[in-house]
Amino acid sequence: MADVFTRVKRSDIMKKVKSSGNLTTEQNLIAIFKSRNIKGWRRNYPITGKPDFVFLDTKIAVFADGCFWHGHHCRNISPKQNADYWRKKQLRNIERDRQINLRFQKRGWSVLRFWECKIKNDQIDLTPLY
Ligand SMILES: [Zn+2]
Repeated sequence: MADVFTRVKRSDIMKKVKSSGNLTTEQNLIAIFKSRNIKGWRRNYPITGKPDFVFLDTKIAVFADGCFWHGHHCRNISPKQNADYWRKKQLRNIERDRQINLRFQKRGWSVLRFWECKIKNDQIDLTPLY
């Protein structure tokens, strides 16, 4: 596997990509909540599975999924370099997302997952939150 960066450097770069990407997406989602007058959300609530937002009263966990990290088939993704490596990583994330969904559902929670690109374009269905 050829990478111009060392493992540590690469992991450092990707951490930055991840945190900054998530932040923007979460902030976009907060803006949408506010514009639709959706209240009662808590951000980064300490609960297993780490949803981005929870609605404790209605037991709804909300995830803002980054298109790259969670393997959305939209134009945002698909690095040419190390495609196999990234694809495997995405598949692991997809599987982990599935496990997390199940875990919440078993505890009587609903799970909402919104794609980064849909949040960006304000194309998400918030009906379950009303
Ligand atoms: Zn997408």
